[in-house]
Amino acid sequence: MRLRNITGAEDKIAESGYVVQEATNRKGKWKELFGNNNPIHIEVGMGKGQFIHGMAKANPDVNYIGMERYSSVLLRAVQKMEAEELPNLYFLCEDAKNITDIFAKDEIDRIYLNFSDPWPKDRHAKRRLPSRQFLERFDGILKPEGTLEFKTDNRALFEFALEELMPAGWKAQAVTFDLHHNEEMVKGNIMTEYEEKFSSMGNPIYKYIIMR
Ligand code: SAM
Repeated sequence: MRLRNITGAEDKIAESGYVVQEATNRKGKWKELFGNNNPIHIEVGMGKGQFIHGMAKANPDVNYIGMERYSSVLLRAVQKMEAEELPNLYFLCEDAKNITDIFAKDEIDRIYLNFSDPWPKDRHAKRRLPSRQFLERFDGILKPEGTLEFKTDNRALFEFALEELMPAGWKAQAVTFDLHHNEEMVKGNIMTEYEEKFSSMGNPIYKYIIMR
C-alpha cells in the first residue's frame, strides 16, 4: 500500500507515543512495554491498522504489535488509536526484513500476514512475506507452538505460499480457499481494509494457519 506521501507523517510517527522508537533496544523485553505476561501477537505489513485495532479491542488479554514500513500508511493506524486508545496495542515503523533484530527467539506467540504485497516478478520472490526467506526470519522469533496466519485474495500468491511451506519446514494446520464461506475458519474473523475491498468485489479470500 503506497499512500501519497503525507507531509509531516515522519515527524508525527517519531513523536507518537503509540509507535515504539528504536525497537531493537526492546529485543527480548517486549513484555515490559505492556507490563504483563500476556501473549504477544504481531501483524507484519499492517497497512492502516483496521485489523489489528479490531483484534486488540476484541482480545484485551492479548498484546498486539503492528509493523508497517511506510510512515504515511502507519499514520492512519496511529489516528485510529488517537480516536480510540487501547492499552494492548503498539506500532513499529520498520521493515520486516529486520524482524530478528527486533524480537528475540520465542518472544512472539502468533504472526499475522494480511494481503501481503504479491511481488509478481520471479526475481522478487524473496521479498514476498510468505516466502521461505521470510518464514526463516519468522521461525527465529516465534515460540515453538506458535502459529502464523495468512490471508489474501491473490490466488497466485496463495499457491506460492503453500508451496513454500515444506521447503521452509512448516506445515499447514488449516487451509481454506473461501474463508468467508468456511464456517469454522471465519469465526471471529476481523476484516482488513483490503479484505473489505476485495471481498465486496466478489473475490474469494484464501487463508492458511501454519506451524512448524
Ligand atoms: N494488511 C493490510 C490490509 O490487509 O489491508 C495492508 C495490505 S497492503 C497490500 C501491504 C502492506 O504491507 C503495505 O502497507 C506495505 O507497506 C506493507 N509491507 C510490505 N512489505 C513490508 C515489509 N517488508 N515490512 C513492513 N511492511 C511491509
